[in-house]
Order: sequence, then structure tokens, then C-alpha cells
Amino acid sequence: MIRPGLYLVSACLGFSGLAHPGEVQITVDASEAPELSRWVEDGAVLMKEWYPRFSNLLASPEFEPPAKVILRIRKSDKGVGSTSGAKIVISSSWIEKHPDDVGLLIHELVHVIQNYPVGAGPVWVTEGIADYMRWAIFEGKPVEKFPKPQDPKGFKRGYQPAAGFFLWLETSRAPGIVRRLNTVMRKGEYSPEIFVDATGQTVEELWADYSSSSLK
Ligand SMILES: [Zn+2]
Repeated sequence: MIRPGLYLVSACLGFSGLAHPGEVQITVDASEAPELSRWVEDGAVLMKEWYPRFSNLLASPEFEPPAKVILRIRKSDKGVGSTSGAKIVISSSWIEKHPDDVGLLIHELVHVIQNYPVGAGPVWVTEGIADYMRWAIFEGKPVEKFPKPQDPKGFKRGYQPAAGFFLWLETSRAPGIVRRLNTVMRKGEYSPEIFVDATGQTVEELWADYSSSSLK
């Protein structure tokens, strides 16, 4: 809540104190696994910090990311995490076995910001962008450390193989490709021609160059 007096003082200093685009409210629900409350609360702080950064990196015209996110821990002995709309559900057993895996929350948070309509485009692009934001941007992993499956369609595995490919494209062949991909995915207008427009090469040709390169 903003008190009128506080608002006036803040406004004089050039800072309104009002919520701005990209600011997010995260509601945590650890009622099924209260022993993990601390882990989830800490994760929510991290998510709140990174949400506006990812929102800026994945900005597109006339799009506002959801302002409210729900983060729920599901008591379960299987599964990892999933996101539907602005609701993220994480399995309790995954956290218990991998307490350092806060990057999982980052990956799921990117899905909230992506906000792609159902059937927007290939899953490998959706998961590749989420893992690009997680591993390349959040974790700062160098391009040579990403897995590069020796397979003519290796990029279709999504996740880290596609994330490393996007990082290579961003730095070597097609700066801005992640933002462009995100924009067309959000509009449901993805076509592999986007790679030809950006580089003059097909995605398969680009992958062949990337997967055979030594990256030295
Ligand atoms: Zn995912």
C-alpha cells in the first residue's frame, strides 16, 4: 500500500514508488510440504529479482507479462516441475533430491513470461529459449560447455542442446535471434524461415556448422 504522503515525497525525487511493468507478485504455496517452505521462499525472492530482467530480454510490442505468479510445491515422489499459464508446480521429491537446483525455478519462470499460446510453434524452441535464459543468462554457462549432440536434427532436442545453439547464434551468426523467435512464438507465427531471413542459411545448415565447430 502506498501512503499519499510517501508518494508525494517519492514523486519529488523522481521515483514514483508505483509498480512498474515487469514487477511481479509471487504467491507461494508450500502447504503440502511445509518442510520446504524456506527453500520455496528463497526461490521466490530470486524469481522476483529475475522476472523484470527476463521480461526485458523477452519484450515484444503490446505484450505485458503476467503480474501475478503462483508457485506451488506438490507433495510427490516423482516428476520435476511444470508451468501452466502463470502457475508453476514443483515436485517435493525433486527439491529434496536436488536442493541446489534453483535454476529449475528460473526455467519455469521463463515459461510464464513466454506466455506462448497452445500450439504456438515447436516445443524445441520453447524449451530452448527457457534453457537459454536459465543456463546462458542466469547461470552464465560458456557456449563450449553446452551439450552438442552429433545428430543432423540435434537442435530439435530443445533444452540445453538448443540453448547452446541459440547462444552460438546470438554471438556468431544472428544477434537478436532469441528475441525474434520469442516474438513470433508469442504471436503463433513461427516459421523456420526466420533462420534464413536472419542468416541466409537454414536451421539445419546452421546446426551442422555449430555442431561440427570446435568453438575455439
Ligand atoms: Zn520447460
